[in-house]
Amino acid sequence: MKRYIFVTGGVVSSLGKGITAASVGRLLQAHGLSVNIVKCDPYINVDAGTMAPFQHGEVFVTDDGAETDLDLGYYERFLGIDTSRANNMTAGQIYQAVIAKEREGRYLGQTVQVIPHITDEIKSRFHRAGEGYDITIIEIGGTVGDIESLPFLEAARQMRPDRTRTDVLYIHVTLVPYLTSSDELKTKPTQHSVNKLREIGIDPDIIVCRTEKPLGREIRNKIALFTSVPEEAVVEAANSPSIYDVPNVLKKQGIDEQIMMLLRLRSNKWEFEEWSAFVQRLKTAENARPVRIAIAGKYTKLKDSYKSLVEAVHHGAIANGVRAELDFVDVEEPCRDERLARAAGIIVPGGFGDRGIEGKIATVRLAREKRIPFLGICLGMQCAVIEFARGVMGMKRAHSSEFDPRTPHPVVALLAEQKGVVAKGGTMRLGAYPCRVKPGSLAFKAYGARMISERHRHRYEFNPKYLKAYEKAGMAVTGLYKERELPEIVELAGHPWFVGVQFHPELKSRPLAPHPLFRDFVAAAARAASGREPRAERAGAGAA
Ligand code: GLN
Repeated sequence: MKRYIFVTGGVVSSLGKGITAASVGRLLQAHGLSVNIVKCDPYINVDAGTMAPFQHGEVFVTDDGAETDLDLGYYERFLGIDTSRANNMTAGQIYQAVIAKEREGRYLGQTVQVIPHITDEIKSRFHRAGEGYDITIIEIGGTVGDIESLPFLEAARQMRPDRTRTDVLYIHVTLVPYLTSSDELKTKPTQHSVNKLREIGIDPDIIVCRTEKPLGREIRNKIALFTSVPEEAVVEAANSPSIYDVPNVLKKQGIDEQIMMLLRLRSNKWEFEEWSAFVQRLKTAENARPVRIAIAGKYTKLKDSYKSLVEAVHHGAIANGVRAELDFVDVEEPCRDERLARAAGIIVPGGFGDRGIEGKIATVRLAREKRIPFLGICLGMQCAVIEFARGVMGMKRAHSSEFDPRTPHPVVALLAEQKGVVAKGGTMRLGAYPCRVKPGSLAFKAYGARMISERHRHRYEFNPKYLKAYEKAGMAVTGLYKERELPEIVELAGHPWFVGVQFHPELKSRPLAPHPLFRDFVAAAARAASGREPRAERAGAGAA
């Protein structure tokens, strides 16, 4: 029998529903169950691709090229699975599908309505997601009470028409705020949001309470009493120092036992050692020597737009037994260079738009000249290519045709076949592409493989026309998308560690499988940091 777990949220947004859902998934996997996990986004956009980072945070790209919600990143990292288009549905997609069917005449004669047509479309996707899995976790975005999420909640409700069903269960994540003035935890918002959920017809089985302070017996009882949920099913989720601790936090309170009991599941398996060992390594690394990594971009204040990147750096650090100390440097700030020079490693991440572009190019120059380990990702790699043309190859006005359409040296450009396509998104190279890695390169050392697959999200490419000139001048192309002769990885000879990649390696890094490029980049930075300490002191004395 296929089973479904719905995760809803109440009181406020940003409660960490995604992490809760993913943690539950991880625990159920440990019991030997196969788990799929889906995010429902109530917005009308068809996908997250057209939303600005400050609207939506990071756009997570799947192997099959879907531009999705960043929660899918948590799903992949926690469950170790590769998600796809089918793991993220938006209201926009649902309406688009229903309207297309209406135009095809598939509902001929009927009035097309939210119930049953929209909800049927949603349910059919729930069922499809469940195929082949023991358990499908479905996280519904937004907060209970929003107008937008109603069709999704109604579809979730219809999945369990009455309480006798044991194949569907509902987890509600709420906030139990702490009031400093009266020194107490407040349960009222939770009561209200559970009532709101009941109005819609959903009776939660488990309540996960996000809280800053331990709930204590009394509060737990009170919530149980007011919401008619057994006390054991009121689960406390206090803030933990690391998101990777959340499965443990929930396990300690027996959330998995509750779920198994309610879904009438039994297991005699408990495979959790790998995860526990990782959390242990993480804790050890936290007390280790810090290695300062600068992330030089333009949305540095919006940490959400670099979610996967930040995680990938930490995975790499933990793999090296060091602690990454991240310094988000805005490339347009005046003290940029001093901050960059203090870093043991520099990352220029991906990005869109020309704001800050010269600052990013200057950042690459500093990394190249000061021999600071460097990782350029997507736009960061393109900046490395531009910088090298200007600084080493004498092409002073080299640029990407994205930012300077009249540059005499379009070292980064749109390919001929991409021109003329007007629809936004229509020209993007999205999703997984194979890449051939050159033996002997830094990339080869990292991956230990000739063929790799990485995810893309960009329009412009390193112009293959210049390839030979670059090789001659000392920037090697060490990764190639053979089918179209597109350079995917560049490296600098004679630099401790300088790698630019056209793809987004951060999307594939997992705690239990840190990405090899991040692992080696942090290793190089850690080496640089230990080699630099005495020198830095001397430099400091000189400057004073
Ligand atoms: N703007 C660049 C392009 O479209 C880089 C995109 C990115 O960094 N994701 O090619």
